[in-house]
Amino acid sequence: MTPGPSELYFTAAEHFKNGLRDKIGSISHRSKQFQDIYKHTSIQLRQLLNLPENYQVFFTSSATEVWERSIQNLVRYESYHLVNGAFSRRFSDISHDLGKNVLRSEVTDGKIVDVNKLLIPETTEMICFTHNETSTGAMQPLEDIYAVRDAFPDKLISVDIVSSTPDVALDFSKLDMAYFSVQKCFGLPAGLGVWLLNDRCLEKAVEMEEEGNAVGTYHSVSSLLKKARIFQTPETPNVLAIYLLGKVAEDMNTKGIDQIRRETAYKLAVLHQAIDKNESLTQFVEEPKHRSRTVVVASCKDGTNEMLLKKLESKGFIVGKGYGKHKENHLRIANFPTHSKEQIEMIADILEAGV
Ligand SMILES: *Cc1c(COP(=O)(O)O)cnc(C)c1O
Repeated sequence: MTPGPSELYFTAAEHFKNGLRDKIGSISHRSKQFQDIYKHTSIQLRQLLNLPENYQVFFTSSATEVWERSIQNLVRYESYHLVNGAFSRRFSDISHDLGKNVLRSEVTDGKIVDVNKLLIPETTEMICFTHNETSTGAMQPLEDIYAVRDAFPDKLISVDIVSSTPDVALDFSKLDMAYFSVQKCFGLPAGLGVWLLNDRCLEKAVEMEEEGNAVGTYHSVSSLLKKARIFQTPETPNVLAIYLLGKVAEDMNTKGIDQIRRETAYKLAVLHQAIDKNESLTQFVEEPKHRSRTVVVASCKDGTNEMLLKKLESKGFIVGKGYGKHKENHLRIANFPTHSKEQIEMIADILEAGV
């Protein structure tokens, strides 16, 4: 029940077995069979996320790779980052390392940047949101992202949805790119990233490449696009991972995204109630509307963190410690689609009982 890598999706083992039986691990990435797998995964993701036609689906090695590629291909000079924890900060560092002018609006952990106070200059090309800051459990309301889009319609909007998709119901017409990796809410082994980007991004990437900017080699937007059009990737990809993602996305579609979201909301309420009832725990994110639906973070009174973790472990539940400097005084509990109501109720009982 850690927020990532997390427990495998409950159907993943079955799909692994079938994948091995069908020798998916050794098919050629230039075969028709692979193209069918790519197409299937892409179609299932489009349905699950309600992705508009003007978006492409690219496969990368991780979300971290998308950070680098998106800066290389979509930012000539300057990116603007809303920073409220380790992941959002890391993205801004990568842009800096790539030689860009990086502007940050930064708040302390557990808070959300107030979008009404953003001063975004003319020179900014891309505004980077982290919808769900996994290190702190803080969630940027979607209305904030949409308001910034309305206020700055000529800038590209990037949204990190690594630990909130597919729960988050994004209106993709109000942004330009989003990305995730599969080891969080999809419950799959790490090592595959998914980059969703619209035609505005494609156009800008072409311009930047034509101008002679360094846009990356095998995974530039143009090389990814050229291959995506024929349901392939430039390199030999992790075929099994793409196959598994398609299967899990299909299972989620069969179950229904509305049902998944309802369950997420129910389990979230159960966890929140348990935190309220345990007097050694408090919500780390003070403002209720900024609390993540998928990563629940509680602050523990001195010394109780270790005891609660041990108690949960003795009952078979491994939940997350705090991230980075919060290691000793937070609990981070993943509320992902694979986590059943029963599991969450059991965890809540243990938390309510206290140490
Ligand atoms: C885990 C995580 C990442 C990084 O994912 P990788 O697969 O390690 O590249 C980025 N952003 C957020 C919000 C995350 O939770």
